[in-house]
Amino acid sequence: METLIALLIPLSLLAALAWFIFRVFVPAKGKPMVCTHCGHLGPARQVTNGSTGIELVLWLLFIVPGLIYSFWRLSTRTVGCEECGATALVPPTSPVGRRMVREAQEAPQAAARTRP
Ligand SMILES: [Zn+2]
Repeated sequence: METLIALLIPLSLLAALAWFIFRVFVPAKGKPMVCTHCGHLGPARQVTNGSTGIELVLWLLFIVPGLIYSFWRLSTRTVGCEECGATALVPPTSPVGRRMVREAQEAPQAAARTRP
């Protein structure tokens, strides 16, 4: 029984580390959203509060503070803009989203009209 536990703990830590590295290099993409901050239309990405460096240091020092910090980071994770990281996103089918997409499409045409 003790050998099973002694084997499961390192394997679970290794699996968590592999998942963490995978998510760092291959972030999850969401459905297309319009950012009300910068007007970007594109897939939303997950925005995680806190610092990865602090999380790693806490995990390397003690297991309990690292666990608490990781739990806080994961529980406060939100969806944000792919370009600027703002969390004020609206669907492109909403009235505000449709207006922002229309304005973004008309802006280059309006700029071209004002040129001499
Ligand atoms: Zn943005």
